[in-house]
Amino acid sequence: MSDPEVPSGAIASDAAALPGGTTAGDRVAALAGELASAAAERGPATYMEVCGTHTMAISRFGLRELFPEAIRLVSGPGCPVCVTATGDLDVAVALARQPQVTLVTFGDLVRVPASRSTLADERAAGADVRVVYSAADAVELAARLPEREVVFVGIGFETTAPTVAAAVLTARDRGLPNFSLLSLHKTMPGALRALLDAEEMAITGFLLPGHVSVITGSDCYRFVAEEYGVGGVVAGFEAEDVLEALLMLARQRTPAIEIGYRRAVHPEGNLVAQRLMAEVFEPCDASWRGLGTIPGSGLRLAPAFRSYAAEERLPVETGETVEPAGCACGTVLRGALDPVDCPLFASRCTPASPVGPCMVSSEGSCAARYRYRDVEGLEAEL
Ligand code: SF4
Repeated sequence: MSDPEVPSGAIASDAAALPGGTTAGDRVAALAGELASAAAERGPATYMEVCGTHTMAISRFGLRELFPEAIRLVSGPGCPVCVTATGDLDVAVALARQPQVTLVTFGDLVRVPASRSTLADERAAGADVRVVYSAADAVELAARLPEREVVFVGIGFETTAPTVAAAVLTARDRGLPNFSLLSLHKTMPGALRALLDAEEMAITGFLLPGHVSVITGSDCYRFVAEEYGVGGVVAGFEAEDVLEALLMLARQRTPAIEIGYRRAVHPEGNLVAQRLMAEVFEPCDASWRGLGTIPGSGLRLAPAFRSYAAEERLPVETGETVEPAGCACGTVLRGALDPVDCPLFASRCTPASPVGPCMVSSEGSCAARYRYRDVEGLEAEL
């Protein structure tokens, strides 16, 4: 593919004039041309992005239409709502059913199917389930409702964990005995290692997450190149950022970890945020949808803060875990199945009536492909 045209999706309408008279669309077209040349030189490659924001950006900008045939880009386990295991959702549901509990979490999670219901179902049945924008909001709620046990369900990667750690410190400093945390936080390096150990996909390189890497830096991914011989580039979120990162990957002759998102990410990351996480959390084994239990890939409260751990303060029974019937989210999250190849995609499973979390979450790969299917030229295939 040489000198590709910008597709009719959002890129063209986002094309703002840049100094020198070029537009973002010009730059995107130029990068796509360079990517086509680099890919032709390099040969076939499979890259995986592991960031929900990248998933949405790639679909929103219609970038797949710009990729040369030699490049295949798949989505991996980058959506925090999607990778949350059904068994962990069952614990959240069981907590919500406790009469003294006010369960608080982020928006998308309330619609994700657990084994027998969703948190939204529990709310409709009378449970006190509330949606907040931050963990700090949950702490405020605990202060306002001293007669309630306010349980915050914390999900997310290294991007979110420092803010939740700060909320736990605030709860401690304010002496709030009725605040607790169900920590379902996960860390990204363990997931990359699990994907590579599984050898299910022949991954040539990773498009590494931008927001997560602001906190972690890029050094934590060096094992990917050094131990597995797989490259990685930290990418930003504009169309140009994604294409530039892919271009850097395609030009790698020796696998390496590089930073494309240089305006925000440094090799060592944000040391203040890392210290905050290390003070409040400690690593633990975590259960990931599609990847199973990954040693050391979760964050639980450190011993000094264990009194805020919901699972210890309010132990619950959950019963047998039942996955959504027919849902292939686990395979999608490993990059081994394209969302549009799930038999339920856009038929039984839509954002209005989602079967699995990848269609529920605003960062889910199934939701992204459904929402922007006209940009991606999928309408005729469905
Ligand atoms: Fe799961 Fe629906 Fe995606 Fe299929 S289309 S993998 S059922 S979320």
